[in-house]
Amino acid sequence: MQQVKNHDDVVNKPIDLPQFSPDERGYYGTFGGSFIPEMLYRNVEELQLKYLDIINDVQFKKEYDQLLRDYVGRPTPLYFAERLSKKYSRKIFLKREDLCHTGAHKINNTVGQILLAQKLGKKRIIAETGAGQHGVATATVCALKGIECIIYMGEKDMGRQAPNVARMKMLGAKVIPATSGSKTLKDATNEAIRDWINHPDDTHYIIGSVVGPHPYPDMVARFQSIISKEIKEQLKQKTGSELPAYVIACVGGGSNAAGAFYHFLDEPQVQLVAVEAAGKGIDSGLSAATTQLGRDGILHGSRSLVMQTSDGQVIEPHSISAGLDYPGIGPLHAHLYKTKRALFLSATDDEALKASFEVAKLEGIIPALETGHAFAALEKLFLKDDRMVEDGSVVICLSGRGDKDLSAYMKIMEEKGETFT
Ligand SMILES: *Cc1c(COP(=O)(O)O)cnc(C)c1O
Repeated sequence: MQQVKNHDDVVNKPIDLPQFSPDERGYYGTFGGSFIPEMLYRNVEELQLKYLDIINDVQFKKEYDQLLRDYVGRPTPLYFAERLSKKYSRKIFLKREDLCHTGAHKINNTVGQILLAQKLGKKRIIAETGAGQHGVATATVCALKGIECIIYMGEKDMGRQAPNVARMKMLGAKVIPATSGSKTLKDATNEAIRDWINHPDDTHYIIGSVVGPHPYPDMVARFQSIISKEIKEQLKQKTGSELPAYVIACVGGGSNAAGAFYHFLDEPQVQLVAVEAAGKGIDSGLSAATTQLGRDGILHGSRSLVMQTSDGQVIEPHSISAGLDYPGIGPLHAHLYKTKRALFLSATDDEALKASFEVAKLEGIIPALETGHAFAALEKLFLKDDRMVEDGSVVICLSGRGDKDLSAYMKIMEEKGETFT
């Protein structure tokens, strides 16, 4: 084991390990809670009162586990990436969420929430979607269970993500364009909330990340926590230790990261690394690096870090990947940032693209553009920063596959050639 230099200012800053579960009002430290219009009190309160009993019920767990295994395809492999490891002089393992049914981790959550909606007796599902991945994962489980499905999607995103719109429609969902504001994810979310207010009794709202009013952040984190549960078991089998030195994940709202971090939150020797989208650069005005640019505020039902102007107007985010193009971050992550339990990095559009091309060439895996941001951390941590010279394995959450991003990859190959170096 080599000596570690200047250790304290980046890695494992000593912290007083707080509770990483929210309190009964849904607060992680000062972040979280439930800020909703009065018309939604009944729905949200019903969820708050019932969600833990439902998801901890033995019969529920049995159904959930069975669907994860037979329908989603879990456990997903933990793959030792040999050529990537050689390049970064690290043992790098990839948690293959890209191999889940529908191509990303999002279905872990929608399978859980559709079962929960059934237990609550709901007959109608609504959801918001940005890139369309959460919309597809929601439409999929609604088809599976024969439940009506309405997806709100920004009109601009519908144009950018036409194949996912087609998928949702083929799966039987109704896709409604959000035509206000920037016509993207946050506008779709506003429309979904409006729908819920108008249909309080028969409708369940499936939120796609660890955002929204309590209990959504905790509920979604619990459904995604299967990722770190499996990592622990698989890493133990492969290396003899269930604890990696690093777990790295990209962060939009933060659900794949929450799932990958979950069972390591109370293991302070595991360095958690969250990678946000810096877009064209943090100071370019075209970015989605919420922890770097955001301030305390309330967005979509919870208190968190939000990109906003001095008078509280939400700033339009930018990222090449639609899944990271969000001006907020889940309250758990705001708390992990503030307490320094996780290290927050950011990667630009170009850095993420470059990393995606590298993974494709070195490992034969084309990752989603979102996931490219997580891979971009390797260079920052292990080539540029000589403080990071510890033993131990590195786990990257490979949140999704790149098929949906092929047109972006094709465009960049036309501009820069096929190696992108
Ligand atoms: C949606 C998505 C993300 C971002 O969402 P999180 O809630 O932050 O996980 C990341 N990767 C992929 C492949 C996605 O589809």
